[in-house]
Amino acid sequence: MVNLHYLLEKAYQTNDLTKEEITDLLENITHEEREVLFNNALKTKQVYYGNKVYLRGLVEFSNICRQDCLYCGIRASNTKVKRYRLTPQEILDCCDQGYQLGYRTFVLQSGEDLWYTEGILVALLHAIKRRYPEVAITLSIGERGVETYQSLIAAGADRFLMRHETASKELYEKLHPTMRFDNRRACLTALKNLGYQVGAGFMVGLPGQTFADLADDLRYLKELRPDMIGIGPFIPHSETPLGAEKGGTLEDALVMVALARLLIPDSLIPATTALGTLHPQGRELALKVGANVVMPIITPTSVRKQYELYENKICVDDHPEDCRFCIERRIQSAGFEVDLGRGDSQQFISRGIDIELPD
Ligand code: SAH
Repeated sequence: MVNLHYLLEKAYQTNDLTKEEITDLLENITHEEREVLFNNALKTKQVYYGNKVYLRGLVEFSNICRQDCLYCGIRASNTKVKRYRLTPQEILDCCDQGYQLGYRTFVLQSGEDLWYTEGILVALLHAIKRRYPEVAITLSIGERGVETYQSLIAAGADRFLMRHETASKELYEKLHPTMRFDNRRACLTALKNLGYQVGAGFMVGLPGQTFADLADDLRYLKELRPDMIGIGPFIPHSETPLGAEKGGTLEDALVMVALARLLIPDSLIPATTALGTLHPQGRELALKVGANVVMPIITPTSVRKQYELYENKICVDDHPEDCRFCIERRIQSAGFEVDLGRGDSQQFISRGIDIELPD
């Protein structure tokens, strides 16, 4: 018999569980124990971050992608998407508007679009930092060479989001015909070594994904110790090879958010748009089980619909100012406070004050 009470207490007290323990927990957890898990995750978040929720303005600047991920609506093979690419000036305009709305982190996300060369990105980063030296810039542009990552951090990028997507090598390679599992991991390690605040993460409910795979996702995160962790349900998109598959559930995604909070307690965890898409209160629920970041979209309304990674994505008809205040209301109604600061991770902050002691 698995002693779930012991596993929950161990996770809460030690912030550690083995792969076998996580798998047992996921296989056997019931409604009542889930509530205990959620409550412990909330208390853990409060110890590290209090009641604060950080906002990031998200600019989805291009839906052009050279990769062909089986789950993703903007994969290269999807000929039905209308493609767009914002110019550097348009991206700067989004940042101006985001700054006016109070955001002090901009997340620049796109498909893997090599039109944005290292030179173009470096110039863009310089321009944003010249205008707004105090903001943090997060890139989420997929796989590039280490030298490019190096130039981008030198030009002012602070953070980099790149989900590992799944810790199962077999599943990863099935879902990513144009990408290699080892390369993804090598990119994440390189980004970390270069000094970025790194975000990894995964989807929950992928076709063929097992509880043991999800346990590996958490173990991988525990080893990598990322500053940010993005977790969302897989949501099928009809114009992809996985269009007829079942998606992930809200409950499973929330359990994974809560476990991520317990195992990597000092990380920043967004309440993802995918969670908000699955359930009208999905993001608020995530905040109540350990998430502490929300990323309102500041992409121009004219192209939002085209950045359709999955179907029925929320907020596609809204304007940046709608999202700003809608999110603030939601955060407050869930019982938390908006923090408009840069919101660095506790791990990053403590890295900065590490004192080297002489031998
Ligand atoms: N090209 C960038 C950004 C990817 S899009 C990169 O490679 O990092 C951001 C995230 O959306 C992906 O990492 C993936 O986890 C998620 N995503 C894509 N399609 C999805 C789907 N159908 N359902 C849920 N999440 C999806």
